[in-house]
Formats: sequence, structure tokens, C-alpha cells
Amino acid sequence: MKILVLGGGGREHALVWKLKQSPRVEKIWCAPGNGGIAADAECLAVDTGDVGATVALAEGIQPDLTIVGPELPLVHGLTDAFRQRKWAVVGPSQQAAQLEGSKIFSKQFLERHGIPTAKMYGAYDSSAEAYDALSTVAFPVVIKADGLCAGKGVFLAQDFAAAKDFVHRVMEKNELGTGGKRILLEEALEGEELSFIILTDGRRYAPLVPTRDHKRVFDGNQGPNTGGMGAYSTDELLPDALRETMRSTIVELTLRGLAVDGIPYQGFLYIGLMLTQSGPKVLEFNCRLGDPEAQAILARMDFDLAEILSDVASGCLDPSKLRWKRGASACVVLTSGGYPGKFESGKKIDGLTSLEKITGVKVLHAGTNLVGDTVVTNGGRVLGVTATGKTLKAALASAYAAAEKIRFEGMHYRKDIGAHATELRAAGD
Ligand code: AMP
Repeated sequence: MKILVLGGGGREHALVWKLKQSPRVEKIWCAPGNGGIAADAECLAVDTGDVGATVALAEGIQPDLTIVGPELPLVHGLTDAFRQRKWAVVGPSQQAAQLEGSKIFSKQFLERHGIPTAKMYGAYDSSAEAYDALSTVAFPVVIKADGLCAGKGVFLAQDFAAAKDFVHRVMEKNELGTGGKRILLEEALEGEELSFIILTDGRRYAPLVPTRDHKRVFDGNQGPNTGGMGAYSTDELLPDALRETMRSTIVELTLRGLAVDGIPYQGFLYIGLMLTQSGPKVLEFNCRLGDPEAQAILARMDFDLAEILSDVASGCLDPSKLRWKRGASACVVLTSGGYPGKFESGKKIDGLTSLEKITGVKVLHAGTNLVGDTVVTNGGRVLGVTATGKTLKAALASAYAAAEKIRFEGMHYRKDIGAHATELRAAGD
């Protein structure tokens, strides 16, 4: 098989890494890829948000299978363009990707199918309507910009003044661009958060191993939100009773709802949940693998990823083929100093070659670039040091030992990934 992976972050490096281990795979391209992916695949320059350009690229290389990493190509209809040409592709259609691309679409879907979620107060097209509505809701209230806003579109407002300020910035000053043209207001939920990711061919599905990510930039969940500072996976995260509740009250209703609405869904579906006093409730859907969750999940894979994704693309997924390594995995993200605020790129990264031969450790590249033979930083999140182990403690120890060997100017990482690992229980159980 010749496979094209679209995207250029840590998630895509993880996909390339695992696809390369398949005996079926003869060639991998990654577009645009990055400085580390270049060692495992042929990187091709393209703007993957541009459907026409990506179709032209695929026309030239003729992959047997294309796997879409990030959300933008999905929301722009890339998989529809591929399927029209009868090209095998993994990723939901443009219509299905609205589950991520529009918070209002997703909320209406959840309500229509009786899937537990935070109660929506309303959806608004203008700031005047939103201000009126704010005088009738209970605080704290959650305000969500409808469209894609790179993780900045959700705000938990403690009072009217804070809520009004956010609405003003989003709807009048357009700080989030077109993603903020419409907003919705919903009730604030309390509880622990859990991400649950499934792989589906539209008929059958397989849950992936459970993971937890760490969004804040500093230890102890301090500082601003980031794309993700690390993740870990262990089966203990998800006890059987909670898994069963999720299956019956969330996952199956979601897949049935998609079928009833005539929206076939093929690919990864990420379900973000809040475990509230009255059971798990959906916070959001993403139509792709999370990053860095993907790195922790794929590290535990014990099956042929190329085979399974090819089955998904042809609608014949056999969930029993997805086998997982026992034990645990961890991914520690190394970032540029200053991220998620201003940071500098182009810093030389040292120590990578010493890690290449360590079993159970893989350094997955996100924001890196190759300048000649030198790997330099090229983004906020630079590397995801990923390790497996018999226990979470062992996986974390390997990941941190490896992280300590890497150096670049301004390098920052959290020292407490997985440190507070606790079994998740739906409150009230
Ligand atoms: P979302 O993109 O919808 O998942 O929102 C991003 C983050 O905002 C979530 O991971 C939660 O931490 C928080 N959040 C979203 N919706 C709610 C809600 N209804 N109540 C409390 N927190 C929320």
C-alpha cells in the first residue's frame, strides 16, 4: 500500500510511525509533514486546508489510501472530493464534520437525539440578542463561538460583566474571526473531564484506549490553555461500569443519531465529556484524533494500523482486530519558551540522536523543521516524547528520562504529566 497522511503535527508523526511498521506499507507521503516526519516519510508541501490543491497533489501521486489528521480539511470537504473520485480516504464528510465545525449544529444534534449534554439557553446571530439573553441566564454561563477558533472559542463567564466582555470581543471586535459570527449560551457543568475516542466505519465501531490530556501550560494546571502539554493512557482510567454507561448513553445514541439523520460517519470521533453528578454529558465532538492523545493511544497499538484504516475506508471494520498493549503510555510535550503566547522559532535541537535506539521511547515531532541536517524548532509545541511501560509510573519515568536528554533554547515542559492519575468515576456511581 502507498499511503498519504495529511497534516504536520505530532499526531501525524504518530500515524506515520505506526503505519510504517505495517508489512503492507510500501510508501508513505506526509503533507506537509515536518522535520521529524521527514525521517519516516516523504514530505510534500501543501496547504491541507485547500481542497483543490490537496486533490491535485493526490492526483499526482495516486495513494491507495489517504488519512486526514487535522480538522480543517474535513470541515472544508476534502473527503467528499476524494470519495467523489472513488479514492479511499479515512475521515468524515463535510456534513459529518459539522459536529466539530459548528457548535450549534452539534448541540442541536445532541438535543434532537436525546444525548446527555449541557442545556443550551439559545443560539444568537448578533451581540444585541446575546446581551438580552445574558440578562436571563444563570451564572456561571458557558459561551461558545460557533465555528473553529483554534481552542479559543469557549469561555466560562462567572458574571454578566465578564460574559458581556467576551461577547463584545467575539461578535463586535471579531477577535476570533468568522468562527465567532454566531454564539451559543449553555449551562456550566461541573465534574471531571474525560476524552473518549472511537474509530468507526459508519456501521461498527471500536473504542480506542482511554487517555487524559493536560491543557494548561504550567504544572498543577496553572496558566493559559494550550493545544495540549501531554497525555497518558492506562486502562485503569476507565472502569468497566463507566465504559458501559458511555456505551449505552452516549456512543450508541450518537452513532444511531448520525444514521437516522442520514449522515454517514467514517473515521475517528472524539467525544469530550464531563462526568457530572447525573452521569456523563457531552461537552464537544471532534471529528479526528486528539493531539497529543493520539501519540499516547498509538503507542499502545498492537495491530496493523494500515490494515484497520483501510478496512474503515472500505466500510468493513472488524472491531475485534483492534488489540492493545497492556500497561500504559505517556507523551510529554516539549514547547518553545513563551508558548502559548509569543515564542521564537529556529532554535537548534540537541540530543535527538542519542534517543533513537531506546526501546519503548519515540520522539514524535510537531513544530520542527530541517535546515540541512539540523533539526530546529518551528512552532509552539515542538516535540512529544512518547514512551510505553508496564505501568504508568514506568512509562512516565522513561518519557521524562528521554525528555531530559533533549535541549533547545527556551525549552519548557510540564513535570506533572500523569502525576495525579486517578480512576475516573461518573459522580453519583
Ligand atoms: P469544548 O471545545 O466545547 O470542549 O470546550 C473546551 C473546554 O471548555 C472543555 O474541555 C471544558 O473544559 C470547557 N467547557 C465546555 N463546555 C462546558 C460546560 N458546559 N461546562 C463547563 N465547562 C465547559
